[in-house]
Amino acid sequence: MTATGTAPVVRIADLHKSFGEREVLRGIDLEVAAGEVVCVIGPSGSGKSTLLRCVNLLEQPTGGRIEVLGVEVTDPDVDIDRVRTHVGMVFQQFNLFSHRTVLENCTVAQRRVLGRSKDEAEKVALENLDRVGLADRAQSHPSQLSGGQQQRVAIARALSMGPALMLFDEPTSALDPELVGDVLGVMRDLAEGGMTMLVVTHEMAFAREVGDRVVFMDDGVIVEQGPPAQVIGTPQEERTRTFLQRVL
Ligand code: ADP
Ligand code: MG
Repeated sequence: MTATGTAPVVRIADLHKSFGEREVLRGIDLEVAAGEVVCVIGPSGSGKSTLLRCVNLLEQPTGGRIEVLGVEVTDPDVDIDRVRTHVGMVFQQFNLFSHRTVLENCTVAQRRVLGRSKDEAEKVALENLDRVGLADRAQSHPSQLSGGQQQRVAIARALSMGPALMLFDEPTSALDPELVGDVLGVMRDLAEGGMTMLVVTHEMAFAREVGDRVVFMDDGVIVEQGPPAQVIGTPQEERTRTFLQRVL
């Protein structure tokens, strides 16, 4: 299951999501092309995490259609585990196994889900730990690492599955300010390497420099989207301007 030709990696059409009475996504249309980096910005509570979580069905949409890598994940008969194998997700909280080493954290899913041998899984894990600058910490436990290092391990773990799409949900929001840069640097390298990425972030400089497109969400809808210099530099909508004045 890989992106072929010009078909978008993610295609979202008229997505709706309610929690009880409250509709938090109110008709989202969004496509992410192969190799594209789309950054989603917007106020807290606007539905950014819910949108990201709907892409791999961590939340079940209440309406609309989502295709990932050409598979309709909103089809009730979809084999979602198969789709998820190709989609890496990195959260604000790193969710590493605390009782396992860094290397083991990066090999468990490869072995269980992909059926790779121990040697093969370790080889892939070490390549990806090297990519995030942490090959020398393979035998450490998460508690021995800084938050920024733990988040880079979480990225290496996701990359070790060979994803065709990476979803990031505010990956630097829980980090001390001095640790943010290293994580953003890894994400920048990944983007430059051609990874398809959908990134929820409050880091406007990152969105501006690394994003191919910026999407501004408010109150469950996409208010405006376009090239970063346009959306962040010369926003067309009042709601976007108000948000940017608060965060910039
Ligand atoms: P953001 O990531 O932009 O801050 P979220 O997608 O997390 O926004 O949340 C959007 C809205 O949906 C918020 O009002 C939030 O309280 C609500 N919400 C999110 N998850 C749930 C849930 N599991 N149950 C009920 N309400 C939820
Ligand atoms: Mg969120």
